[in-house]
This record gives sequence, C-alpha cells and structure tokens, in this order.
Amino acid sequence: MADETQRHQATAEAPAVAEAPAPAAPTPAAAAPTPGPRGGRGGPREGGRKYFRRKKVCKFCVEKIQSIDYKDYRLLSQFVAESGKIVPRRLSGVCTPHQRRLSTAIKQARNIALLPFSART
Ligand SMILES: [Zn+2]
Repeated sequence: MADETQRHQATAEAPAVAEAPAPAAPTPAAAAPTPGPRGGRGGPREGGRKYFRRKKVCKFCVEKIQSIDYKDYRLLSQFVAESGKIVPRRLSGVCTPHQRRLSTAIKQARNIALLPFSART
C-alpha cells in the first residue's frame, strides 16, 4: 500500500524543458544515397522474367545496313507489331540511330500503304 504514494510522486515530476530542437544533432548532409535525378539502377523490383530474353543485337548493325529502305516492307514488317505499332527499341534491340531511321522508314511505308497504321478491327 505504500507504493501508491511513490508512484504519485514519479508522475508529478514533469520535466519542464524548453523546446529546443536538438542542438547537437549534426544535419546528415551525406545521408542522401540517390545519385542522380533518375536513380542509378533499374529499381528495387526485379520480378520473375516473363519473357525469354534473347541476346539483343541491332539487326541493322549486324547486317551493316546503313540506310533503311522504306520500300522493303518485309524488313520493316519485322519491326511492326501485329497491332500496327512500331516495336519499341527495348524489345527489338535495335540501336538508337537505326531505330530512328527505321521509324521514319516505317512511317513512309505506311503512307504508301505498304504497312498498316493499325490492325484491322
Ligand atoms: Zn544499329
């Protein structure tokens, strides 16, 4: 029964400290691990691969095709999806300069109806 009085005293001791915002805490300047604006690597998620990953080599670089002929629809159609869209570079593996020429060639070929703008519905 004597404990009650002791407890009461302990709670009464409220520390009346003035609110000082942590004086000795050093501001972590080097605590920002993100290096660039777009992040360094591919990100934290690395899920199971859904697609079989082939070794991606630019077809045009391999075959040393410098200028892509827009009339060569057989070649171009390899880079057009069934929906009629141009296959993105990350899927086809075509390098940037060739993809640029390829896309213009596909657009030219579309214009003269060698390739579809979109799939038939
Ligand atoms: Zn290339």
